Amino acid sequence: MKLSIRWQLVAIICAVIVISFAALMATVKYVLMDDYVQKLRDNDIQLTYVISRDIHQSLETAFAIERVAAAYPYLLTMPENEQRILLQKLKEGESSYELLAILDMDGNQLARSLGNNANRSTRPWFRRFKETERDVISAPYYSSYTNNLVLTLAHGIYEKGRPIGAIMADMDTTSIQDFINSYNDNSECRVYLLDQEGNSIAQPSGMGEGIFNYRTMERIVPIRDESGNIIQNANGESMVEKQSFTIPSGLIRVMGDATNKNVGSTVYDDDSGNRYICVYRTINLPHVADNWTLILVRPYSSLEGAIDHMIHRAAMGSLLVALFAIVGVIFFSKYITRPLFEIVNMAKRVQTGDLSGEIPNSRGDEIGILVDTINRMVKGLRAIEEKNKEAEAKIRDMAYKDALTGLPNRTHFMIYARDILHKSHRNRRYGAVMFVDVDKFKFVNDTFGHAVGDGLLIGFGKRLVEIIGNKKLVCRFGGDEFVLFLPETSEETVIELAEAIVNKMREPFRISGSEFVISASIGIAHYPKDAATIDELLQLADTALYASKRNGRNQYNIYKKGMTVEQDG
Ligand code: GH3
Ligand code: MG
Repeated sequence: MKLSIRWQLVAIICAVIVISFAALMATVKYVLMDDYVQKLRDNDIQLTYVISRDIHQSLETAFAIERVAAAYPYLLTMPENEQRILLQKLKEGESSYELLAILDMDGNQLARSLGNNANRSTRPWFRRFKETERDVISAPYYSSYTNNLVLTLAHGIYEKGRPIGAIMADMDTTSIQDFINSYNDNSECRVYLLDQEGNSIAQPSGMGEGIFNYRTMERIVPIRDESGNIIQNANGESMVEKQSFTIPSGLIRVMGDATNKNVGSTVYDDDSGNRYICVYRTINLPHVADNWTLILVRPYSSLEGAIDHMIHRAAMGSLLVALFAIVGVIFFSKYITRPLFEIVNMAKRVQTGDLSGEIPNSRGDEIGILVDTINRMVKGLRAIEEKNKEAEAKIRDMAYKDALTGLPNRTHFMIYARDILHKSHRNRRYGAVMFVDVDKFKFVNDTFGHAVGDGLLIGFGKRLVEIIGNKKLVCRFGGDEFVLFLPETSEETVIELAEAIVNKMREPFRISGSEFVISASIGIAHYPKDAATIDELLQLADTALYASKRNGRNQYNIYKKGMTVEQDG
């Protein structure tokens, strides 16, 4: 099926709207994405700053044990029960403390906030404390009391700059984990908090239980009994086993890059080709030389999702606008193409010969000019047609009318008479043909001039019409010769008419103020009595006319059998 111009126009404009709309959306997405990534990166850097400040703050609070050492210079030599009371008070004051103890430089606990004194000389953190003679913070490990992940802070009791003992606190990391998880749970991003050795203090859930070390790619998993409690060894330590684990190589690289760099960002692709944007920051811990690392990972897909959401909303709005535009286009196309339909209809009418009417036009554009031109063209054709009709009528008049008298001419007579005769023959009707000739007309012409002769011929014709009426045919055959066709007329009436003509023509004609007296001669032939064809009837009437002329004119003669021109002449 062929589409009309109107629908072609609608289709083209709609296609243009849809294509430009899609192109706009694609460009917007491209531009927005870049911009959005940059903004989010800045935002995430800000976020890592806030998180690291809070962690720093909570550790600062935990290290408040230093104030005890300052307040009690003889802490190490105090009776054990006083030490214990002091430690218990401290524990009550800070919820994250799980256990507090005072140690000598051999690792022996002199007093504890809870439980029996033990030796901690083999613990890595104690070794480090002894080695560095500085405050230390341990790697995370599973508490044998609570099964939670804990860290041990060791604050030295110094004399002349060297440690003579330590006050230690096992600090529960649950609050730090909860704090990190609040970001992991409520946003698209994933947050990792790693200690100085690359151990996970907090990380996104869903990776399984254990302390993950992102340098050795080994995790420490607690061994639990049937009721879910971590099994303890003979020393009262939580039993663990080491398992290796894998993460996308891109993320391993990021973990490596992130350690000990103040702040930075990078991008990595996982093994399935998904892209992530990473922001990391080093957290400088209070009192100790160690640094922790905070890593924030955000999938690109979430950015795209956010952008797509924005674009989707924008698209919905734009779609509404596009729908209005399309409705507008339909009306607009109607406005554009309506004159074309009118032009087509006009062309069809012209094709069938109808030149009436014109296309309404109120426009000044090219289509308006076209409509105007067509209207003028049709008007021109109409004028030509009218002229043609006039010319045709003139030609018909010329063909069938006598120019001088306005009476039907010989051609008209022949057509008319033949037709009537044909019908009369069928219906067996009677009628007559009458020749009427002006007597001595040459004399009039020669004596008074052609103009008078013409006037006389006109007056003669008029008088003939007056006598026989309009319904019968009066023709001028040529010269001063007139023929009357009298169908369905009785012989008596024909005679009456002939007498009336002869008498009437004797009356003077008034031409150009002068009176002229003439006479007329008549020859009559009847049908179907004398002849059946018009040619024969004319010939016989002419013969009868000759008889009138020869017998002295100013009379009528009816054709009789045997009457001939020669015989009588
Ligand atoms: P007759 O009595 O025997 O009829 O004699 P006539 O003089 O009338 O002779 P005829 O009928 O033969 O002559 C007709 C004349 O009519 C001849 C011609 O000069 C003249 N005539 C023919 N046509 C016209 C015309 O249109 N106008 C004028 N004024 N004269 C015409
Ligand atoms: Mg004559």
